[in-house]
Amino acid sequence: MAKLSVIKGDITLQEVDAIVNAANTSLLGGGGVDGAIHLAAGPGLLDACRKLNGCATGEAKITEGFRLPAEYVIHTVGPIWHGGNNQEGQFLSNAYYNSLVLAVRYNVHTIAFPNISTGVYGFPKDKAAKIAVETVQRFNGEHPGKLEEVRFVCFDEENYNLYDALLK
Ligand code: ADP
Repeated sequence: MAKLSVIKGDITLQEVDAIVNAANTSLLGGGGVDGAIHLAAGPGLLDACRKLNGCATGEAKITEGFRLPAEYVIHTVGPIWHGGNNQEGQFLSNAYYNSLVLAVRYNVHTIAFPNISTGVYGFPKDKAAKIAVETVQRFNGEHPGKLEEVRFVCFDEENYNLYDALLK
């Protein structure tokens, strides 16, 4: 069974097979974790993203990692929180699940996720953490032996504490 872990830190520094980017539908860069990943990966990442024709909410696309320690970047788009009655939970779950589907297709064994949608997209952190952990556990149950480690990389204390409690 894949190990689920949590750390407080910067996703761009993670030495894993793939890191996940919480991108926007254009895939042409943004602020937050997206900006940090593009800065660390270098301009090759934006060139690669230009060829992907964007990404719908809940879907995922993959590029190489360029200057990052990670071999791949999986770009996914989480939902913008509009109060919770617009299938935000389903879209967030899809973002995690489809990232993992792509990871397995590329033989990724270790993967790091940021806390998708919990920055400027405004998804409540407690709800998002539960969805993230449940979705990863469901994927692992359905794909035994495919993943070694799924690491949740939390940038803030609040998210760290939420994941830490869920994974205990
Ligand atoms: P979204 O638009 O999906 O909300 P954000 O980038 O605004 O995306 O925020 C997603 C999460 O990523 C937030 O919890 C934010 O604190 C976190 N974050 C920002 N920079 C980094 C980083 N370098 N490494 C890991 N997480 C980060």
